[in-house]
Amino acid sequence: MSKGKILVTGGTGYIGSHTAVELINSGYDVVIIDDLSNSSADVVDGIERITGVRPAFVEGSCANPHVVAKLFAEHPGINAIINFAASKAVGESVKKPLLYYRNNLNILINLLEQMAPNGVKGIVFSSSCTVYGEPDINPVTEQSPIKKATSPYGNTKQIAEEIITDAIASGEPIKSVILRYFNPIGSHPSAEIGELPNGVPQNLIPYLTQTAIGLREKLSIFGNDYNTPDGTCIRDYIDIIDLARAHVKAVERLLDPSTPQIEIFNIGTGNGLSVKQLVDTFEEATGVKVPHVYADRRQGDIEQVWADPALANNVLGWKAETPLAETLKNAWRWQLRLRERGIM
Ligand code: UDP
Repeated sequence: MSKGKILVTGGTGYIGSHTAVELINSGYDVVIIDDLSNSSADVVDGIERITGVRPAFVEGSCANPHVVAKLFAEHPGINAIINFAASKAVGESVKKPLLYYRNNLNILINLLEQMAPNGVKGIVFSSSCTVYGEPDINPVTEQSPIKKATSPYGNTKQIAEEIITDAIASGEPIKSVILRYFNPIGSHPSAEIGELPNGVPQNLIPYLTQTAIGLREKLSIFGNDYNTPDGTCIRDYIDIIDLARAHVKAVERLLDPSTPQIEIFNIGTGNGLSVKQLVDTFEEATGVKVPHVYADRRQGDIEQVWADPALANNVLGWKAETPLAETLKNAWRWQLRLRERGIM
C-alpha cells in the first residue's frame, strides 16, 4: 500500500531525481513536475530503470499559477510537496535578478496557495547553507546568524524561508520542513541518474570529473591563501543519496500530526573538507589523476563553512552515512556513463 502521494517539483533535476528514487523505494507514489529548463525527460526513464516504477510526469512550470491549479486538479490526493523547482545559477542571478526573484518566488507562492484548498499537508523546501554567509563560528547550527545574501539567488532562499514562516504564522493550515543543504555531490551508484551541468560547470565536482576524463585541461583550485590548514576553502560535502533520504525523513515528519508546524534542519555531514583534500581523496578513491593548478580566489567565495547536523541526527532521525570515497567513485562512474552514452 502506498504511504502517500508526493509532488516533486523540479523532479527531473539533480537532487529531485535522486529524491524521487528514494521516495519510490520507501513506498510513496511520486508525481513529478518539471519545465525541463535545465534537465531532460529521459531522467524519468532512469528513475524507472532504478526503481521499476515509472513516476507520473508533467511538463510545465510552477511559476504559472494556472499550471499549478491544473496539476492539482489532474492529480488529486497529493499529501505533500517537495519543492526543488528553481533557477540555481548564482552568477546568472546577479545578471538577471528579476528573472530569479520572479521565477523562484512565484513557484513557491503558487504552490503554497494551492496547498490548503487541495488538502496538501506540508511542503519541504530546499534552502541552503548560503543563508549563513561567512560564518563567525564553525560548525554552524540552525541558530547561527543569518547573513545578508551575496547574490539574488541566495536572497531567494532567505526570502522563501520568510514567506513560508509568515504564511504559517498567519494561520495557513499547512506544515513545512526547511532543509538547509551544504554541498551535494555524487550520483546514484547505478549511474542511471546524476548531475548534468549545462555548459562549463561552475561547481567543483562536475568540473573535477570533466577534467579527470579529459574534457577540461585543468581544474583551477580557487585560492590557496585562505586562513585554513592547507590554504584552500573548506566545505561540507554531502552525498546525494544521503541528501535524498533526508527528504524522505522530512516527508514522514510532515505527515506525522504530532510534529511542529515548521522546522529547519541543517543537512550536512559535520565534517569540513578542503578543496585540496577533496581532490586528493578523488585521486585515491578512483586511481585517476586530476590535473590541477592553484588560481586566484573566486569572487564571493566563503572561506569555510560546515554543518552541525546534530538537530537532523536527533530530531529528524537522519544521518549522513556514505563514505566520501564511495561518493566520489559514484561521481566518477556517472562521468564515465555520460561518455558511454555519448553525452559528454
Ligand atoms: N572550486 C574550485 N574550482 C572550481 C570550482 C569550485 O576550486 O572549478 C571551489 C570553490 O572555490 C569552493 C568549493 O570548490 O571553495 C566548492 O565550490 P562549489 O561552486 O562547488 O560550491 P559553493 O560552495 O561555492 O556553493
